[in-house]
Amino acid sequence: MDRLERLDHRFVWHPFTQMREWLRETPIVIASGKGAVLRDTRGREYLDANASIWTNLHGHRHPAITGAINRQLRKIAHSSALGLANEPASLLAARLVALARPAAAKPAATLAKVFFSDDGATALEVALRLAAESARRSGLARRPRFLSIEGAYHGDTVGAASLGQIGLFKRAGGSLQFKTDSVMAPYCYRCPHNRAQPERADAREYRRCNWECTQQVEARFDARRGKQGRYAALVVEPRIQGAAGMIAQPSGWLRRVGAIAKAHQTPIIADEVMTAFGRAGDAHAAPESLLACQVEGVAPDFVCLAKGLTGGYLPMAATLTTQRVFDLFLGEHGEHRTFFHGHSFTGNQLGASAALANLDLLQSHASRAARQRLERVLAKELATLWSLPAVGDVRRVGLVAGVELVRDWRTRAPVPTAGRVGNRVCAAMARRGVLTRPVGNVVVLMPPFCMTSAQVRRMVGALAESIAEVLPSR
Ligand SMILES: *Cc1c(COP(=O)(O)O)cnc(C)c1O
Repeated sequence: MDRLERLDHRFVWHPFTQMREWLRETPIVIASGKGAVLRDTRGREYLDANASIWTNLHGHRHPAITGAINRQLRKIAHSSALGLANEPASLLAARLVALARPAAAKPAATLAKVFFSDDGATALEVALRLAAESARRSGLARRPRFLSIEGAYHGDTVGAASLGQIGLFKRAGGSLQFKTDSVMAPYCYRCPHNRAQPERADAREYRRCNWECTQQVEARFDARRGKQGRYAALVVEPRIQGAAGMIAQPSGWLRRVGAIAKAHQTPIIADEVMTAFGRAGDAHAAPESLLACQVEGVAPDFVCLAKGLTGGYLPMAATLTTQRVFDLFLGEHGEHRTFFHGHSFTGNQLGASAALANLDLLQSHASRAARQRLERVLAKELATLWSLPAVGDVRRVGLVAGVELVRDWRTRAPVPTAGRVGNRVCAAMARRGVLTRPVGNVVVLMPPFCMTSAQVRRMVGALAESIAEVLPSR
């Protein structure tokens, strides 16, 4: 190991990592990046097949974003949002409100205000606190309780983790967390109500069911009303749940669930941390919609943005909410109605400048065309995976895909998680120069929007070879 590799081993504690395993391997030390390619200190190159953990949109070292950060740096890097305004944060807030505005919504229901923070978890934390306090203040719920979806992931601060529904992470959080209710996810491939036999296609397309999943959402709301009133909010990842294993929602699920929440006068928190900015959009049918919830015509009361907000260049997050929520916090000084919450780097000028450049790119014709092209190529290349018996389901929403590995596609029999098949496949991909991470037995592919057709072919080809290597067909 060289000096940098040794330094990491000696001092750095990595997130979500069993450090005993980490310390057995020589780490890959990333030194630079360009477009969809990462380069390490030994000069090896890799495709960034999960967009640097779901953050990067236009590729690394894009001149527009790098330039915007450099220009801002020549003025000032950061000034406080406590008691002071700044140009990029104000411009960005206006842009975010404009892009979140649905075509025909009632003014009270439109997103009108932006609260800045730093990460996905903090964006959720803000939404959670605002929703809980709003519910209390409007007399809808004395003891606010939230409803989220099975397998949900909303970040790792204590509040955001309480909304999460991944068993392993929940147990790790233990007694620090508060209670939330959960309801079944629309996981068509493994849905007990789906009567269809496995086919070589995305399970959402051939499923046979009666929307039992949304009936259960309805039942949860009814049960809640029977008790202490309403939920403070329904929290949902629109169109696709990321850390749950890229659980892609069948078309119409979000629309139905949104209508149920509205009918029960329950605010919706859209966690668009992974899905926003065209990542889980529809580049062909809805190229203007930069939020995934817009594709389903759902108007949330809160939208949480982070990962891709700056194009994946700097940590910055935003929580959008309505005028109605904002008004609940207005009052005279002595009334203590203020939202007592904030972070040192709230409204950071470098981050906001990067985000503005990101939005300029996203709304350009060239970027729209690039997303459409990438969506076509990705769909075509992913289809080649059906020839592998160990591929059970291939789920793609916009420019993000999950490939679920199984023992045998005919039975959907899962590969035992103890075998760490997802990790082994990703390690085999890394040896072929393609970097991504699995969620259990689901391999994630999330190309930066600049990935060329040849690179997409290489990425999917490396996945196919790695699956064949780790799970050879008998
Ligand atoms: C990544 C993620 C978060 C947490 O964001 P951080 O920036 O890692 O705190 C929250 N929600 C979703 C849907 C995510 O994918």
